[in-house]
Amino acid sequence: MKKLMFGVAAALFVVGYGLITYQPPPEAVEDNLVDLQEETQDQQQQPEDTRPVLTIAQEEVYKGNLLLINRQHAVPKDVGIPDVVNLVQRQDLVEGFGILDNNVELPLDMLQKFTGMIEAAKEDGVSHFLINSGYRDNEKQDELYKEMGEGYANAPGHSEHNLGLSLDIGSALGLMKNAPEGEWLKHNAWKHGFILRYPEDKSDITGAVYEPWHFRYVGLPHSAIMQEHDFVLEEYLDYLKEERNVTAQWDGKMYTVSYYLIAKGQRIKIPIEGSYELSGNNTDGVIVTTWDDGASDGMEEEQ
Ligand SMILES: [Zn+2]
Repeated sequence: MKKLMFGVAAALFVVGYGLITYQPPPEAVEDNLVDLQEETQDQQQQPEDTRPVLTIAQEEVYKGNLLLINRQHAVPKDVGIPDVVNLVQRQDLVEGFGILDNNVELPLDMLQKFTGMIEAAKEDGVSHFLINSGYRDNEKQDELYKEMGEGYANAPGHSEHNLGLSLDIGSALGLMKNAPEGEWLKHNAWKHGFILRYPEDKSDITGAVYEPWHFRYVGLPHSAIMQEHDFVLEEYLDYLKEERNVTAQWDGKMYTVSYYLIAKGQRIKIPIEGSYELSGNNTDGVIVTTWDDGASDGMEEEQ
């Protein structure tokens, strides 16, 4: 009986797969759309899903906080230039930390996230933070690449600094690998949505040498899940792809993190409830993070 069940499931899977890839129904061809909601219902005979439906276009694969940027994966061409502030010109925003030079630029929301994090560090008696670098355009990255060389700086177009999601944090007390600021961040940055992007023992996966100063924003609950499993971003995105759905609890909220493949030129429709956040992986799909905050009665409010 078990064997038979498996056979049926496998057949359904093949049919389902065929629907997406090889034999889209006429209406899906016309609309170029894969309706995952209907497909799930057909297969599992579930009662009608009344949740609102979110349509995600393929362009979303190249936007968001979880974009994978490394030697193999370049910054998407049309990612746009983030709206940044120059910290020298905005001394009112520089509080509780120093800046290396007058070139340091960051998106305002990233600066606020950093400031929130170092306020928590201050409560632990760690307070000598510096920002050495934030957003870098291709020109600045090119200069750095020529100066530092491959292996120490990423080629232009392959740096997370191009996204405005990364910053190089320093300490006024010395090198980050020894300073209390580096030690504190290593253990606590994840609680604030940041990750140590290039840990010492993961160079073979990240393709980058240990950088105790380079922190990347991915947001919660992702940073918490990565911390729990000791994942770098490459591993985390692979994990999501494999698991498809992951649940995580953080700060009293229950999150569901789901991965969806989006084929070229297609868009997908997924049923969704409560609040959500969307990010591409910069390769082949999107990650949809949903949570129930108890206050929302539909997705309209969240858009
Ligand atoms: Zn960096």
